[in-house]
Formats: sequence, structure tokens, C-alpha cells
Amino acid sequence: MMHGPYPLQALHSFKLPAFAAGYIQLHCLRDIADFCATVDLKRTHFYILGGGSNTLFVRDFPGYILHVQLPGIEVIAEKRYKVLVKAAAGVPWHQLVLFCTARGYGGIENLSFIPGTVGGAPIQNIGAYGVELKEVVDTIEAIVLATGEKVVFKAEACGFGYRTSFFKTKWQNQYLITSLTLALYKEAKYTIEYEAIQVMLAQMGVKRLSFQAISDAIIAIRKQKLPDPAVLGNAGSFFHHPLVSIAHYQWLKQQYPSLVAFCTQDQDQIKVSAAWLIEAAGFKGVRIGHAGVYPLHALILVNYGGATGQDIINLATQIVQKVKRQFHITLVPEVNIVGATMGQYTHGNGITSV
Ligand SMILES: Cc1cc2nc3c(=O)[nH]c(=O)nc-3n(C[C@H](O)[C@H](O)[C@H](O)COP(=O)(O)OP(=O)(O)OC[C@H]3O[C@@H](n4cnc5c(N)ncnc54)[C@H](O)[C@@H]3O)c2cc1C
Repeated sequence: MMHGPYPLQALHSFKLPAFAAGYIQLHCLRDIADFCATVDLKRTHFYILGGGSNTLFVRDFPGYILHVQLPGIEVIAEKRYKVLVKAAAGVPWHQLVLFCTARGYGGIENLSFIPGTVGGAPIQNIGAYGVELKEVVDTIEAIVLATGEKVVFKAEACGFGYRTSFFKTKWQNQYLITSLTLALYKEAKYTIEYEAIQVMLAQMGVKRLSFQAISDAIIAIRKQKLPDPAVLGNAGSFFHHPLVSIAHYQWLKQQYPSLVAFCTQDQDQIKVSAAWLIEAAGFKGVRIGHAGVYPLHALILVNYGGATGQDIINLATQIVQKVKRQFHITLVPEVNIVGATMGQYTHGNGITSV
């Protein structure tokens, strides 16, 4: 355990300057038990950190950073068509995808190349290219931080939804996830409805589909489309796609025929593209000081080097206000904002205010 100030800049993908009062690396269950026994977490600020790819530190953090580094992937059961794979929370997510696709285990190939850890993945039910993590979660093991007790959740209990789960909402900071068990398959079931996947598969000359081929195509698409956090600090999509009523959607569509929107399972609501809203509000490619909106993807805010967390928040606030004025829609951040006291974001579900 280290007492601060401990630098956080290299520990999150936005690469913003911030320090923590305390820092501990958790490599095994024993480390977690010892920490829970030493520090009264009911009275102490703490933040559980995985890969830091969905975290924005606005200012110095006056508590402990619990950095999850638990290693290990194992196949715990394998049948003709099905397989259970268990991975510890500290494993890089993409390493797990590579492990599975290389063995012909399907289900997470569309989630290739998403940064972060296995433990961070269920928090917002990661999703990409028509697949969400919840579709393959079997169980999640966690530690109750208040007591140090172990618990196992079935997927149905976790409140998974679009970029959310109970871990991000009503259970926030109650559990430290230690492992994830995925129920994957060995049958040829592929999700390739997205046009971008089909175009890339054709470009790559793929004649026979496989989990590996789809994973390779998605890696190639993502490398073209998204900024590499090692080069340009960012946390992927900054905002959720907002849900609006059918009447609101029709009103918008009448005024903005080019509006991009998607159907949802809920027949009363339509999901509007947040990237479209931000671009239509005039922010795509805008740069204010060292913070900006990525020129190739309006949903991604970037740190051009030298930005502070407050710079990113100021830009995000301007976007929220303009989108609200123009479209009567309140954008909610997807990124976990740590250390902010932001009036207009108080209903966002990713805020840790200290
Ligand atoms: C370039 C880029 C592209 C991205 N693309 C996508 C995408 O396509 N789809 C998508 O869904 N996301 C995407 N993201 C967001 C991000 O990669 C995911 O949300 C990822 O799962 C976050 O994992 P992490 O370990 O980095 O989480 P962190 O940022 O470390 O933490 C995020 C949240 O999870 C909590 N947490 C982390 N680990 C644990 C644990 N073990 N137990 C309990 N709580 C924990 C933290 O307290 C925090 O609330 C992208 C990000 C970047 C930078």
C-alpha cells in the first residue's frame, strides 16, 4: 500500500494529470482481504480501477485507488458445442478475446480490441457491433467490500442494460469483481449484420467465416476509426446514445431528415445517435485549448496533450448545453467521472463525486 500523492496520469486512458492520496495494487484475493481488514472502507473514499479506459479524473482523488491486477484465464468446462471460460478481473479484456478466438470459442469476437480489464467489462455491459457482454455472462464472482465476504452473481441478477448494470448504479462501490465466467459456444454462430464488418471481411478477402476472421476484421475497423489512447488520450464514447419518445423522434426527424436513430427493444422509445447530435450541434473536430472532439468520431472527446480533467468537463458541458438547446435532449456521460461536482450531470449514472 502506498500513501500519496500517487500519480494517476499513466493509469487511465485520458492521461489527465491527477494524484491519489493512497494507492494499492490487488494481485490476489489475499491482497483484497488484507486491505478490507486494514482499512474501514465504510469511512474511506476509494475508487476501484481496472484499465482506466472508462474513467476521467477531474482532480486529485482524496482516497485510495484499488488497482485490480488479478491474473489468470482457465477453461473450466468444455463440451462438444459449449465451453465455460473463467477469467480473473485484472486480465486485459482483449487478451481474453484473443484466448477464446484462437481456440474457436465464439461469443465475444465482436467485442475485440475494447480496452480495459475483464473486471471493468460488466460494469457498463460493454457492447460493440451488435453484441453485448450480457449475452455470454454465466456468473460473476465478487467481494463485498464492507465485509470481505465472497459472492457469486448469475447474469440475470446483475441488471444489465444498454451500457449499464447494477454495478454501475445501485450497487456502485459495494462489490469488487474478482472474476467473470463466460458461457461461449463452438458452433458457427456469427453476428455480422453491421455493414462495416461485411465491407472489411470482403476487403480482407475472407472466404470462410470464423470467430478469428471476425475478430481480425473488427480489430482492423477499430484501428481505422478510433483514436489510439497511447497516442491521443480518450475514453471511447463520452456520452450514451439518448433514448427519446416516438413523438420526440418524429418531431426531430421532421426538422432534421438526416437524423440517425436506432430501434430499441422498448417499442415506445428510439435511440438517437449521440455522435449525430454532437456533429449537428457543430462540435465535430472542435478544439478548445488542449481538449477536443475527435475529428473522425464526434462521440469521442480527446486530450491533445496537456488538458486537465476540468478542460474535458468544460467542453463536455458546452456540448450538453448546446444539444439541449437545439434538440431538447440531455446527453448523459458514459464515462465514469471522478471528483466532479457538476450540477447538470447529477442524474448521470457514472459519477463518483467526492
Ligand atoms: C478507444 C476506446 C474504445 C472503447 N470502445 C468501447 C466499446 O466499443 N464498447 C464499450 O462498451 N466500451 C468501450 N470503451 C470503454 C471502456 O473500454 C470499457 O468500458 C471498459 O470495459 C472499461 O474497463 P476498465 O477496466 O478500463 O475500467 P475502468 O475505467 O478502470 O473503470 C470503469 C468502471 O468500472 C469500475 N471497475 C473496474 N474494475 C472493477 C472491478 N474489478 N470491480 C468492480 N468495479 C470495477 C470502476 O470503479 C469504474 O466505475 C472504449 C474505451 C476506449 C478508450
